[in-house]
Amino acid sequence: MKIEELVRKNIRDLTPYSSAMDDYQGSVNIKLDANENPFESDLNRYPDPYQKDLKSKISKLKGVSQENLFIGNGSDEIIDLIFRAFCEPNRDRALGFEPSYGMYKVSADINAVRYDTISLNEDFSLSADKLLAAVTENTKVIFVCSPNNPTGNVLNKNELEKVLNQFKGILVIDEAYMDFSNQNSWIKDLYRYPQLIVLQTLSKSYGLAGLRIGIGYCSDEIVQVLNKIKPPYNVNSFSQKAAIKGLENQADYKGQLNLIIKERERLIDFLKAIPDVLAVYPTETNFILVKFKEAKKVYNYLIADGIIVRDRSNMPGCAGCLRISVGTPAENKVIINKLMEYKA
Ligand SMILES: *Cc1c(COP(=O)(O)O)cnc(C)c1O
Repeated sequence: MKIEELVRKNIRDLTPYSSAMDDYQGSVNIKLDANENPFESDLNRYPDPYQKDLKSKISKLKGVSQENLFIGNGSDEIIDLIFRAFCEPNRDRALGFEPSYGMYKVSADINAVRYDTISLNEDFSLSADKLLAAVTENTKVIFVCSPNNPTGNVLNKNELEKVLNQFKGILVIDEAYMDFSNQNSWIKDLYRYPQLIVLQTLSKSYGLAGLRIGIGYCSDEIVQVLNKIKPPYNVNSFSQKAAIKGLENQADYKGQLNLIIKERERLIDFLKAIPDVLAVYPTETNFILVKFKEAKKVYNYLIADGIIVRDRSNMPGCAGCLRISVGTPAENKVIINKLMEYKA
């Protein structure tokens, strides 16, 4: 598969912005090329446009070479850049499934790209045949989210493999929640699939949502296309530094991750015992999708105490469902007590 042929013509032909740092990379004694304020502080210089130190850290941690990494201002920025790179407005289409993360369609709409969807099976599993049957000649990108938000489940490896082997465009696998799961990340399979983009983020398991750091793992061809169109300084220097620090602090990260997973399992057991709960869906994330007899009433009952969960009951396949994020042990205790006291 030729990635180049999937790229929009105007992007293929584009001469990208060339920053001062692109023009000269040798050693510097006096830096007078970027109209910066010359008085040194932590922040007077422009950030590294290619985030080399951060990529080096991620590369070692994940066993993926730096040429296969793209850092975005959150994964939401990478999602937008994928549309801009591969989808011709008002002609090309993208494809995904429902229920899933809402940003794919919003980003498609902003870019004037039609976003087609199929529905997941009743147990929230994905049928590759159904997805592939919805591919049109203009379908350039498929978005899948695994573990899926808001359902919590991981998609079957063989089904995704089938999509990868048969679809002739870009496949994005959004692994925002993979750290909470026992399954292997698709980054192990990058070398087999030049058209695969795996998205991860420091916003969930690493507790760094405020930094806005999203990671795209893909072939170097795709990295080069995304580099060409990204805002030159898309990740600020404060975030680059703080992300490296966060990644270095593996002890805290692992401690919190294990506690969240332990709390999740405890929450599931309690939720299953609550009379108004009809279903607690299997989850490999830091949230739980729960089906209630009267979701809206439960939602308002919790809101009255300032406890906010996400009402997903209007999403396809999620009637009656609230999505509850795993909190601290103390917070989880409060919500469980509240729900046990709930009377319909
Ligand atoms: C939270 C979430 C993201 C957001 O990522 P950012 O890196 O914070 O932009 C991406 N994908 C899914 C499925 C999410 O739930």
